[in-house]
Amino acid sequence: MKSFNPPIRTLMGPGPSDVHPRILSAMARPTIGHLDPAFVGMMDETKQGLQYAFKTENDLTMPVSAPGSAGMETCFANLVESGDKVVVCINGVFGMRMKENITRFGGEAVVVEDNWGEAVSVDKVEQTLKDNPDAKILAFVHAETSTGAQSDAKTLCKIAHENDCITIVDAVTSLGGSELRVDEWEIDAIYSGSQKCLSAMPGISPISIGDRAVKKITERKTPVTSWFLDLNLVMGYWGEGAKRTYHHTAPVNTLYGLHESLVMVSEEGIENSWDRHQKNHEELRGGLEAMGINFLVNKEDRLPQLNSVIIPDGVDDAAVRSTLLNDYNLEIGAGLGAYAGKVWRIGLMGYASRKENITLCLSALKQTLDK
Ligand SMILES: *Cc1c(COP(=O)(O)O)cnc(C)c1O
Repeated sequence: MKSFNPPIRTLMGPGPSDVHPRILSAMARPTIGHLDPAFVGMMDETKQGLQYAFKTENDLTMPVSAPGSAGMETCFANLVESGDKVVVCINGVFGMRMKENITRFGGEAVVVEDNWGEAVSVDKVEQTLKDNPDAKILAFVHAETSTGAQSDAKTLCKIAHENDCITIVDAVTSLGGSELRVDEWEIDAIYSGSQKCLSAMPGISPISIGDRAVKKITERKTPVTSWFLDLNLVMGYWGEGAKRTYHHTAPVNTLYGLHESLVMVSEEGIENSWDRHQKNHEELRGGLEAMGINFLVNKEDRLPQLNSVIIPDGVDDAAVRSTLLNDYNLEIGAGLGAYAGKVWRIGLMGYASRKENITLCLSALKQTLDK
């Protein structure tokens, strides 16, 4: 065997996004014990950084030591009890995964379906909640990375509460890239990922759980079926003030990286980060439209950090993406499901959302298509 030296790429797909050099160098600092007082101090700061990024004061805010999918599973494992009715919105791949989680934890999923590429229909959700007064939870994806559509999390949470449901929100792609206000919008349980708009390495899932959701967890009649994801146990390690007890060995250096990314978010200001993603999206959109390339999603529902564009007629999807990768070291994403071969997903997430990347993407795409 020899050492692995990856090629230097520009990552403009659906994640992971470019990791900032400051984060990479933070991760190379010496490993210390995960119960070392110096590490515990860094954990407290990480929690505060996450509270700032999520705009929440929820005490139960912490990084799960595994990728975004584990944050998803943490929320469903703890909140869904056998027999619970859960209304779940499906408008892309990640809504489907939510449904899968609900049924695996013994819940009954009631599906609200919307076309891929569209936002979740508030009217349909409202009607479904009225038709299912025994539903306990509403689950939806804020930023559907599989299509590039954004849903109205604020309104969906409002109607959930009017109908006595708590909410589980997937913010893996939205955190840091789109307006997101956990406390103001009264989101009860939310999970995200480190590798999208936070520009950190893949493998960590920040979550935040509010009072209503904590109550549902503490009132469970049966234990959480996953030992690793049981928040009652994990909190013994991440809980503030309390004496830390061993639960699992934290991924020490990965958390240095997350900490550094949160330092960068606080330096920039979370609202400025949302604005930067929006402005760069508009610049990319202008360039793509000038080349005759159109967007999949309606203007009002478009995500700034994930641009789904329709592949022009007669263009070979795979050939273009491999030319971009091999000749320009540029990664963009393929379409998923019904959109495989029909759309490209161009990410402008976190550190990847910057001017020189837009220029690279537009010129590389133009030269490739011209050929
Ligand atoms: C990427 C993503 C996930 C899964 O995150 P992983 O880190 O890949 O496990 C979940 N939901 C959405 C909306 C995502 O974009």
